[in-house]
Amino acid sequence: MVMNADEAKKKIDTLREELEQYRHEYHTLDAPSVPDYEYDQKMQELIELEEEFPDFQTADSPSQRVGGAPLDAFVKVQHDVPMLSLGNAFDDQELRDFDRRVRGGTDEDVSYVCELKIDGLAVSLRYEDGVFVRGATRGDGTTGEDITKNLRTIRNIPLRLKQPETLEVRGEAYMPKPSFNALNEAREERGDEPFANPRNAAAGSLRQLDPKIAAKRNLDIFLYGIGQWQDESSEAHSERLEQMEKLGLKTNPEWKKCNDIEEVIDYVHSWVEKRQDLDYEIDGIVIKVDRLDQQDTLGFTAKSPRWATAYKFPAEEAITTLKDIELSV
Ligand code: NAD
Repeated sequence: MVMNADEAKKKIDTLREELEQYRHEYHTLDAPSVPDYEYDQKMQELIELEEEFPDFQTADSPSQRVGGAPLDAFVKVQHDVPMLSLGNAFDDQELRDFDRRVRGGTDEDVSYVCELKIDGLAVSLRYEDGVFVRGATRGDGTTGEDITKNLRTIRNIPLRLKQPETLEVRGEAYMPKPSFNALNEAREERGDEPFANPRNAAAGSLRQLDPKIAAKRNLDIFLYGIGQWQDESSEAHSERLEQMEKLGLKTNPEWKKCNDIEEVIDYVHSWVEKRQDLDYEIDGIVIKVDRLDQQDTLGFTAKSPRWATAYKFPAEEAITTLKDIELSV
């Protein structure tokens, strides 16, 4: 639809207002009122309009922000290295565009690591001399919430590493599907509002002031990256994942190194259906440039790394509809 500047401004204002409201419900209240694909579509529309009408771009637009505001109920944690968001790709063409930008930015061949994008809550864990001292939510990327006591209840978070390292590691805390179903059944029996999805249940559990509640919720974690570490021995993200495992930090076993974007696309396709068999929810695939020196060369935008992107699966509702159509023909 072709719009003049006045119409575009009106549309931009409406989208911003709606998106701010959705972000607050999702990130701060853990209670979204619309499905993710609707949020993603509106965000995409806003980004395109802001590109077309750069005069209306503002630094406080939801398109420029990461996550949501931390709750006052928790002690605030400043992230030394910001916890950012990821750019998105919604189809093969956008993955090839990402690859073109990456190769243009490095002038070299690039290999990638593909990982499952776990649908949970981003957390940062700090270890000092091998001891777990602090865990925080991402919050707005710069300031998160101290949820150490709740994270200590997750059995797969080691309270002591296998070596006395000082580091900050990042990952996704999540609620496995069986725990989610059991929790919602129990809530409904008690007449409590069920959680919308496992992500909200995990986030809601970890943002409780009483750690006894989190302890009962059977949460788990996969760690996927390093925030800070003075270690120089790895040259690639894939090596880092292996090092993390050696330290006792649980990574997701399904990651794969791919030599070019076509291999990445095959990996992505292979998970569209297979993801139903996992006992946790994923909402996409994260693709990261493997070599750390190439990551450094590519750097970051204000909101996300240029060396990574998230392929988002089509909405489950859309898949069901397609299947229904196939069956009914
Ligand atoms: P994002 O979901 O696009 O991706 C960034 C996050 O992915 C990281 O912070 C990390 O937590 C996670 N992640 C999972 N596995 C990972 C891995 N292997 N490696 C690296 N990161 C991994 O970005 P976002 O800023 O967290 O949130 C935006 C998304 O949240 C939207 O695309 C939308 O789907 C959803 N959202 C929905 C609503 C709603 O109302 N329904 C509102 C706001 C946001």
